[in-house]
Amino acid sequence: MMELEPVIGLEVHAQLLTRSKIFCACSTRFGAPPNSNTCPVCLGLPGALPVLNRQAVAMAVKAGLALGCQITRKSIFARKNYFYPDLPKGYQISQYDLPLAQDGKMEVLTGNEKRTFGITRVHLEEDAGKSIHRSGQDSYVDLNRTGVPLIEIVSEPDFRSSQEAYDYLNNLRRTLLYLGICDGNMEEGSLRCDANVSVRPAGSSTLGTKTEIKNLNSFRFLQKALEYEIERQGKVLGEGGQVEQQTRLWDEENQKTLLMRSKEEAHDYRYFAEPDLLPVVISQEWIEELKGEIPELPETRRQRFVKEFSLADEEALLLTQTRQFADYFEKAVSTCDQPRAIFNWMLGELTRHLKKDNRDITQCPVKPEDLANLMGLIDQGGISGKMAKQVFEEMYETGEGAEAIISQEGLEQISDEDELNSIVKRVLDSNPEKVEAYRAGKEGLLGFFMGQVMKETRGQANPQMVSQMLQGQLQSRTGQSL
Ligand code: ADP
Ligand code: ZN
Ligand code: MG
Repeated sequence: MMELEPVIGLEVHAQLLTRSKIFCACSTRFGAPPNSNTCPVCLGLPGALPVLNRQAVAMAVKAGLALGCQITRKSIFARKNYFYPDLPKGYQISQYDLPLAQDGKMEVLTGNEKRTFGITRVHLEEDAGKSIHRSGQDSYVDLNRTGVPLIEIVSEPDFRSSQEAYDYLNNLRRTLLYLGICDGNMEEGSLRCDANVSVRPAGSSTLGTKTEIKNLNSFRFLQKALEYEIERQGKVLGEGGQVEQQTRLWDEENQKTLLMRSKEEAHDYRYFAEPDLLPVVISQEWIEELKGEIPELPETRRQRFVKEFSLADEEALLLTQTRQFADYFEKAVSTCDQPRAIFNWMLGELTRHLKKDNRDITQCPVKPEDLANLMGLIDQGGISGKMAKQVFEEMYETGEGAEAIISQEGLEQISDEDELNSIVKRVLDSNPEKVEAYRAGKEGLLGFFMGQVMKETRGQANPQMVSQMLQGQLQSRTGQSL
């Protein structure tokens, strides 16, 4: 049997975080009562005219720049005509032959390898409304979403596995979050992804016939749908058949893709230039201004973290998921130069607490400087690692700094040599049989002695010191008896 390789390209729709819609002043707020955020423009009433939202253009240009695209100096809007109950005008205002941005690329870490994927285009368009089908026979239409600004980001067919597509989408999502132009919420539909898939003989340079899969509202669905579809197409070809060009749906309940319709062609939409809107002319000056507002992007920042803080690729990826999480890390490291410990605590205790309370890092009661100070105290032996968890817990509850809590609660680590020596002596004195057994070769008893010392000190003894003292004293007792 010939070996097949999958070819995948993604079309991603991202709702822009403008306060008002793209062609009218209605609010874009999610979750408002049905049809309350509407006006004659977004309801498509006769005679109503669209006015372009400048902020939406600014956000789309930023996305284009961040994705390494050429910004089209003069782009135009087009009408994409089709009939659907959630599209009151009977056409969607989109862009067609002159999109806002073209010819970009994105560097992505995938399977421990840095790969560059092509971006075909980024264009602006309006969202459609939402049809709600209640089980039974009724369907409802909510037009609050009609006219919410979207960018569509079309990739080249550059992915060769579902994992590559997944990693690309993740990095694209991070990029939009860093730019502050989309909230990236796939469940609420503010980030949506359609996947185009075909398979071909491995090594072939021509493209096979593709299917497009819709309804992928999570990363997991994307991956599962791609894997299912790659296998389905492989089987069709393996049996000597031909893949039909289709639009399919991911059916989560039955874990498969279903035929939705035979694929429409571009000419079915009767695209033509939108006569109610002027071309969008973007000056070099404005491009420069917008460039200046773009922060360090996630993949660049991830690579810098790897170099600057000696972290693994995957670790730096976890830290740079959101700009705020990465900011927190950098602030902590600038207070206490212990990136490894800070990484461990941020992804361990800190994340665990935030998850439990359903908070994000911006709502974290522990300030980055305070976490850093705690790391410093552990490092200098001011507190044991075990105690530190308890201290952190209180820091999280009260928002107070580590030092204040440690002195209030008397949790300082005991590192006083005389004090520890006498505790160790006491423990050994009161366990003569165990000391005997240790001498006879049961070295595992060291842990028992350690536990006794910790019990006496409520866990506050400096463990390195105690361990050394125990070994020292046991040795000398052995020596005496010989
Ligand atoms: P359509 O005309 O169906 O909209 P496009 O050429 O505009 O197709 O491409 C849409 C998306 O499908 C892009 O992301 C592109 O990379 C991807 N794509 C195009 N052809 C193929 C193919 N043969 N296999 C997989 N993906 C493809
Ligand atoms: Zn409106
Ligand atoms: Mg297309």
